This record gives sequence, C-alpha cells and structure tokens, in this order.
Amino acid sequence: MTKILHRTIGTNLPRAVAGEGIYITDSEGRSYIDGSGGAAVSCLGHNHLEVLQAMKAQMGRISYAHTSFFTTDVAEHLAEQLVELAPEGLDYVYLVSGGSEAVEAALKMARQYFVEIGKPQRRHIIARRQSYHGNTIGALATGGNAGRREQFKPILPETHHVSPCYAYRDMQMGETPEAYAERLAAELEAKIIELGTDTVMAFVAEPVVGATLGAVGPVAHYFKRVRQVCDKYGILLILDEVMCGMGRTGTFFALEQEGIVPDLVTIAKGLGGGFQPIGAVMLSEKIYRAFAEGSGLFQHGHTYIGHPIAAAAANKVVEILKRPETMTNVIKMGDRLQAGLDAALAQSPYVGDIRGRGLFRGVELVADKDTKQPFDPVRKIHSKIKKEAMQRGLMCYPMGGTIDGVYGDHILLAPPYIIQPAQIDLIIERLAAAINAAV
Ligand code: PLP
Repeated sequence: MTKILHRTIGTNLPRAVAGEGIYITDSEGRSYIDGSGGAAVSCLGHNHLEVLQAMKAQMGRISYAHTSFFTTDVAEHLAEQLVELAPEGLDYVYLVSGGSEAVEAALKMARQYFVEIGKPQRRHIIARRQSYHGNTIGALATGGNAGRREQFKPILPETHHVSPCYAYRDMQMGETPEAYAERLAAELEAKIIELGTDTVMAFVAEPVVGATLGAVGPVAHYFKRVRQVCDKYGILLILDEVMCGMGRTGTFFALEQEGIVPDLVTIAKGLGGGFQPIGAVMLSEKIYRAFAEGSGLFQHGHTYIGHPIAAAAANKVVEILKRPETMTNVIKMGDRLQAGLDAALAQSPYVGDIRGRGLFRGVELVADKDTKQPFDPVRKIHSKIKKEAMQRGLMCYPMGGTIDGVYGDHILLAPPYIIQPAQIDLIIERLAAAINAAV
C-alpha cells in the first residue's frame, strides 16, 4: 500500500524506473514515449549525459550555499546566459525553484515596484479566464481555471479576469484577427477603467496557453494591443512562459513571436529540463532600479532559490538549447507533428481543432464538430484518452475544464526537442488509436 498522497488517490500508477532519450520505462518493463515531456518539462529527454555530468561536477564543488550569504558562479552564469538570450529590456534574473514560485515572485515584484515608486494604491491583478499560473495561493488566484479554483475561492486574494485569446471558440464569423484582437484589447481596457485606472498593478497572460487550453497561441496583433493598453495606464505586463518558454514554441521565448517585451517574464519547466527543479523571473531595468534606489531589497525569498546544482543543470540545458540544431529540430519536428496530426485526425468527427507552435501542439475534442459542442464532462474524454494512450505506450497531457460555461477536452503534446521523425509518427499513430478507443 502506498504511503504517498498521490494526485489522484486510488489509481494504480506504474512505477517509473528508468528514462532514456524520449522514453520512460516502468517496473514491468513497459516503455512509454514521453510525448508530453511530462507536463512540458523534459525538453531534452531523459538521462542526458551532458546535463548529468554538469550536475555531478557541481556537486563535487558545492551543493548548497544560502543566497543571503553567498552568490555562486553557476547562478551568476545562468543569469548572464538568460539575459543574453532574452529580448532587450529583460535585464535581470531572479532565480526560484519552479513555476508557481516564479509567478508568486513576479506578482510580489509588481506590487513592491509600485510601493517603491510611491503608488501603493496599485494592487489589482487582471488575468484571463481559462489560464493556469500555478497552484500556490497567489498563482491559483491569478489563474482563471474555474475547476482548479472553485473550492479554494474563499481563501484566494481578489483577482479579475477577462477573456482569453481563443480564436477557435471566440473569434466571430467574419471577424478578422485584427478586429478580434481589438475587441479583446477593448475588453481589457474596460476592465481597467471599471477597477480604476490607477489601481491596477499588472496584467498576466501566457503567450501560448498550455495547461488549460492545449497550446492556444494568440492571434496576430493581440499582444501588441495588450502592451499598448498596459502602457497607456502604466500597468506592468507579466508574461508567464513557465510552460511555453525555453524553446518549446520554436523560439527561446514564445513572446519573441509577438514582437513585444513585457516588464516581467516567468520561466521554469524546460529551464531545468526535469533534471532539477528550477524557475526564474526576468525583469526590466525599470523594476530593478526601483528596488535598488528604493528599499534596496526584494522583500521575498525561499530557501532553495539559486540552488547551485539546479543552476548547473539549467546552465547546461540552456547551452544545449542555444545550439542551432536544437531549435531547428523543434521547428522541423513541430511542423511534422502538426502535419501528421492534421492528416490523421482532422477528418475525425470528434476533433475540433489541432493547433500550436513548435513542439507544443494541442488537440481539442468535440462531440459535434459543426456546433463545436463539447463532450459531456461526466464522460471525462481527456482522461480516457490519457489511459488509452498509456496502454499503447504514449504519454500525452490531458485536460478538461470550463470556459465561460463551456466545458472542453484537450490533449497537449510537448515531446522532447531531441525527437526524431519516426518517433513523431509513432506518437501520432498511438494518439489516433487512443482517441478512437476513447470516444
Ligand atoms: N504557469 C504556467 C503557465 C504553467 O503551465 C504552470 C504549470 O503547469 C505553472 C505556472 C506552475 O508551475 P509549477 O507546476 O512548476 O509550479
């Protein structure tokens, strides 16, 4: 009998005993293609020798040094690497241990920024419905996923939500992407005015929505208009790249494809590649200066921030991501995945949309393709597909949830960047079989 409080109690989880490349093997000797990188984490696959060696070398030097006493070469080098890769304007790095922690830190940075510059009345957070920003109290309050929030609502800080950019369901017949982006920007602006223009501190969004929608990217112009609205009212823009960052969408940061620079960016998952738990917040000079010239400290901190072994792993991951062949493969294999999914699934009466960027692809399941009517939630189609896929040796990331009262089932694929053409084809074959078996 297990003594672990598992995520879902009573499920008989296989025991993972080994990982190699894109495969995980369980204690029964069954092998699974890691088609989702866990939850878009394992960007370089498993048991990557170079990363393991980097971690081992760091363990032989120093494993832990509290950040109130010391900095380390590995942490400093990681910050330098990230700043070098980021678009100009993201000049500093705050290291944390994961995605939720990154979001919490970014929210507190936004708040402290306004306190430092003498605008303590700025306190409201606006985010989007059907978003996910983590499971800690502040991050959960920021995310808009109704199901995850429901029972915790009474203890969540107040936050505000506007529509996500979700063209498949929300762009109207005859509406251009520009007009749709404009409509969403107007909704954001109306919310800011409703709350009081000098009371809002931050707007938070995922450039490509992961865990709640399954790889839904924005329409063109959307983030440009969002940036303009934030600038007009002096609001900080926080982009959450915990899932879609670190090369997942074919560029190092997904936001590079939007032609804007936010004030704060959160990253995690792919940063440690699953080898170590690590995340980061990247921030602008403006915010750094406010802290440096104000109180001189960021009033925050966790015990394991800047952990040397995590930083060593992340340095090596980033180094590998910087190699041109890595991103070339993400784009090439991502195109192959989309084309293969289109060929195998687009005709299915139960597949409403296949979308995404790079090696970040989503499939939305519907009961009726013409009306886009989702499946009845009690059928839990996404969970059934996950189960069927596991039986066929494929890990895919399922999700179901409501948006404006409409329930939806989605499957997310996010395989490691080292994946090869034949393995992409195998993912598609197994996923198609799993969907057919589940619906
Ligand atoms: N933000 C986004 C966009 C995420 O997708 C996630 C996790 O899925 C988080 C934050 C939370 O990250 P973590 O699970 O590492 O706390």
